[in-house]
Amino acid sequence: MTTLQDCIALDVQDPLRHLRDLFSLPEGVIYLDGNSLGPLPKAAPERIARAVRQEWGEGLIRSWNTAGWFELPQRLGNRIATLVGALPGEVVATDSTSINLFKVLSAALSIAHADKLSRRTLVSERSNFPTDLYIAEALCKERGMTLRLVEPDGIARALDTDTAVLMLTHVNYRTGAMHDLRAVTAAAHAVGALVVWDLAHSAGAVEVDLHGADADFAVGCGYKYLNGGPGAPAFVWAHPRHADRFWQPLAGWWGHAAPFAFTPDYRPAAGITRYMCGTQPILSMTALECGLDTLLAAEPLGGMTALRRKSLALTDLFIALVEERCGGRGLGLATPREHARRGSQVCLTRDEGAHAIVQALIARGVIGDFRAGRPDILRFGFTPLYLRFADVWNAAEHLREVLDSGEWRRDEFNRQQAVT
Ligand SMILES: *Cc1c(COP(=O)(O)O)cnc(C)c1O
Repeated sequence: MTTLQDCIALDVQDPLRHLRDLFSLPEGVIYLDGNSLGPLPKAAPERIARAVRQEWGEGLIRSWNTAGWFELPQRLGNRIATLVGALPGEVVATDSTSINLFKVLSAALSIAHADKLSRRTLVSERSNFPTDLYIAEALCKERGMTLRLVEPDGIARALDTDTAVLMLTHVNYRTGAMHDLRAVTAAAHAVGALVVWDLAHSAGAVEVDLHGADADFAVGCGYKYLNGGPGAPAFVWAHPRHADRFWQPLAGWWGHAAPFAFTPDYRPAAGITRYMCGTQPILSMTALECGLDTLLAAEPLGGMTALRRKSLALTDLFIALVEERCGGRGLGLATPREHARRGSQVCLTRDEGAHAIVQALIARGVIGDFRAGRPDILRFGFTPLYLRFADVWNAAEHLREVLDSGEWRRDEFNRQQAVT
């Protein structure tokens, strides 16, 4: 049996323990939802206040040049590149994940169409995040193509010479299951298809090597593991072999080769810059920069490799504690045990009361979330930047108490809410 004392000892030895000081976490909260909304970096309020008071208030329009506003998407993109195995100049932080997906999926379909006219199918996973599927569905509808949705174990079989593009999310949001980026990309390439990866639950959470996997396109989210704040700008990457081949469909002036030439005709910028559309939300970008700083602070301590090692230790511990302490209480494990197939979350199933159990945990200060489906999911994200092993122990103990006391059956935990 692992004891709380064992966990406290692990925290004392943890080389990443001081990174927690970079965050402003409320007292009495164990935050297991950084996979949905990363917490506030301590540096952010002051940095954003400076952007408001000085850069906007005093600098006014001059700040586009003097405060580096204009290059922010590229500057942040270069930092994100280091987290996902891309090179400087290949990533921009911009727009939302949904919008970026529309851009790269359009480009990928156009490239596939230009090279292999007859391919009519876009393949994805039925349990992919809905916005990804909706964007794909809309594009397929517009282009007269077929969206083919398969189960995770049916992906390899679904790929054939009719496949134009395979679109997948690297780490599944409901189960935490992780695809083998390199093997799946190779399987798609073997039939001549392109691959678009959504790294929403990977960037800043697991090691990603886009070039090592020879991926084609990728997008990812700024407000989850990158700690960029609610609605933070997302990011987009295109392999240099594709970046210049097509206009993305949202050909706005920020993607123009010379936006301040104000010419009536569009001339796309070289490389990833053409994947920008219009004027960027500078205050949100400023917050995202603070979020990225928290991840880059791990660089001298081993970077993503060290973060991933701790993340796996945290999720291993949570799985073991739930099984030791909460066994026989109707919980199942939806997340793969195998490290190579696990993201940075642990998802539990329960036939009855999953939503109410999550609500009861939140009332105790243990914040995870609920994802409806069959079966319903209790989802817990483990971010190695600020979580302690003792937090994991306490979270499992709260879960045991919520189940054993039956407190989750109370009315207050059984009401529907707009956002789960
Ligand atoms: C979180 C998430 C999104 C979010 O998209 P938005 O455009 O930011 O709303 C998209 N795709 C996946 C896979 C996600 O996990």
